Amino acid sequence: MITIDGSFGEGGGQILRTSLALSLVTGKPFRIENIRAGRKTPGLLRQHLTAVNAAAAIGQAEVEGAAIGSRAVTFKPDSVKSGDYAFAVGTAGSTTLVLQTVLPALLTAEGPSTLTLEGGTHNPFAPPFDFLVRSFLPLINRMGPRVTAELERPGFYPAGGGKFSVTIEPAPALERLDLLTRGDLVARRAKAMVANLPRNVAARELAVIGKKMSWPSEWLTVEAVDNSHGPGNVVTIEIESRNVTEIFTGFGERGVRAEAVAEQAVQEARRYLKGDAAAGEYLADQLIAPMAIGGGGSFTTSKLSRHATTNIEVIHKFLEARIAAEQASDRVWRVEVEPS
Ligand code: AMP
Repeated sequence: MITIDGSFGEGGGQILRTSLALSLVTGKPFRIENIRAGRKTPGLLRQHLTAVNAAAAIGQAEVEGAAIGSRAVTFKPDSVKSGDYAFAVGTAGSTTLVLQTVLPALLTAEGPSTLTLEGGTHNPFAPPFDFLVRSFLPLINRMGPRVTAELERPGFYPAGGGKFSVTIEPAPALERLDLLTRGDLVARRAKAMVANLPRNVAARELAVIGKKMSWPSEWLTVEAVDNSHGPGNVVTIEIESRNVTEIFTGFGERGVRAEAVAEQAVQEARRYLKGDAAAGEYLADQLIAPMAIGGGGSFTTSKLSRHATTNIEVIHKFLEARIAAEQASDRVWRVEVEPS
C-alpha cells in the first residue's frame, strides 16, 4: 500500500486531493497520515471530507477515517463508475476543489458523467468558477474529453450555497498537451461580480482596472447577481491568448476596500503580462497531474510553486511518469512530463 505523509512539502489539502485523484485513476490503494498537519485547523475539513466521499462514491472505494477532523485516511478503490452524482460540501468550502479530486478519473471513464456540486464557488485559495471554465477546462478539453460547466448560482464565504453542474464526455485516453508559448494576444477583459451588494462596488473595481491597465470601458463588465445565498464580490481579469487563457482574481472581503480587491488582480495580471511564460502559477500546479496520467506534455510557467513541487512528489508515488522542471530564464520555468 502506498503511504503518504500529508505534512510534507506544501502540507495542505492538495496532497490529499492529488492522492485521491491518482488512486482513482490507477486503482492503487493508499494511506495518508498527518493530514494538513501544518495548518491552523489540521485534519479533514468539510471540503476535504466531501472530496474523500466523492472519490469513494465514484471509485466504489472502501474508506477508513472519513470524518471531520480525521488526520489519517485509508482509501482502497474498486473500479471507477461514471454516472450522475451530486456532492454538497455543506459549508462555503470550495466545490471546485472537490471537482479537482474526481475529474481526472471521469475524463477517461467508460461512460459520460454529470456532477452537481454545492458549496463555495468563488473561494480565496481555490480555483474560482471562472478560472475553471475559461482557463482550466479548455486545456483539459484539448486533451480529448469534452467537459462543460454551468454556474447556477455563486457561493461565497460564509453563506455558501453556490451550485454548478459539470458534464463530462470522456475520451479513451488523454492526449499530449504542449503549452510552451502563449501565442498572440486575442482579448483582454475584466468582470466584477457583485452578489447582494451595491453595484457601485463593482463599478469602483472596474474603474481601478480600467485606469491601471489602460483598458477601455468596453472590456469591463459588471455582473450583478441576485440569487446568491449571501453577499459576495469577486473581480476577474482575463488575458486570452491564442494558446491559453489566464484568469487573475481578486476576492472581496468584509473590511477590504473595493479598490484593494481590484488591485490584487491587477498586480497578478501585470506580472503575467510582463513575462512570457504560458501558464500562471495556479494553472501550472493543476496541469501536471492530467499530463502525467495522460499522454504527457510540456508547459512554461513563471513560477514553480510549492503546490506544484508537492504535486510532483505525490505523482511520483503513484506513477512512473518522468517530470522535469528547469529554470529556462529569470522568469520562465519549463516543465516536461513524460508518462510511464
Ligand atoms: P490547497 O491550498 O492545498 O487547498 O490548494 C489550492 C488549489 O487551488 C491549488 O491547486 C491552486 O492552484 C488553486 N488555486 C488557489 N488560488 C487560485 C486562484 N486564484 N486561481 C486559480 N486557482 C487557484
